[in-house]
Amino acid sequence: MFLRWSYVRFLFGLRHMGANWQVGDGREQALADYVCAHARRHDIDDVIRTIDEFCYTKSYLINVGDEKGRILDRAVAAARPRRLLELGTYCGYSALRIARAMPADAVLYSIEFNPANAAVAQRIWDHAGIGDRVVVIVGTLGDGGRTLSALREEHEFISGSLDFVFLDHVKEEYLPDLHRILEQDWLRPGSVVVADNVKYPGAPEYRAFMRQHERVRWRTREHRTHAEYQKVLKDLVLESTYLG
Ligand code: CA
Repeated sequence: MFLRWSYVRFLFGLRHMGANWQVGDGREQALADYVCAHARRHDIDDVIRTIDEFCYTKSYLINVGDEKGRILDRAVAAARPRRLLELGTYCGYSALRIARAMPADAVLYSIEFNPANAAVAQRIWDHAGIGDRVVVIVGTLGDGGRTLSALREEHEFISGSLDFVFLDHVKEEYLPDLHRILEQDWLRPGSVVVADNVKYPGAPEYRAFMRQHERVRWRTREHRTHAEYQKVLKDLVLESTYLG
């Protein structure tokens, strides 16, 4: 019954989504209020648990979710990255999971095109006590160079300095943004790129690109999983190691 209900809520949530998988009907703000009211301050585990609770019981949100979150956790822990980049902050849920799994001296830079979502995420991170280890930047990598140059000039992104990338934004932008990162020469052999929602809603060009370059420039593991907070729709998370 629980699973069926979660699926109904999932479909209901889908109806409210815009083209960019953003909802924008106030539920992001409601999430931040709920976290600040119910999660223990400066307790990252409790903040993550409270967001999952909100998504299962209150309102469906496009977070990576707990099932796929564990794939992300393991990928970050295995890579032991120092500098990380996330595309698609949304409410800051995956950034919380990444920050929990990354080494203590690592910094995550998270790009979000919607300033209201960036503010929600910042509020939740401050509550979790990770506000100094995660930096949110409002923009997109395809905004004509503004965000790319901010990363280069204000945040010391240099050749070979980027250890880990998490793609979870507009699905059509996965491949163009990966090319932008490659053009900047920020990756090094051994850097890891994780991409969410490759099957649902789907990033077929990105998947084809990784298959085409398998064992030449990339080595990819495809994790079979489910879409967020339900067990019916199948999804894929791709974990790709750059070979240089
Ligand atoms: Ca996602």
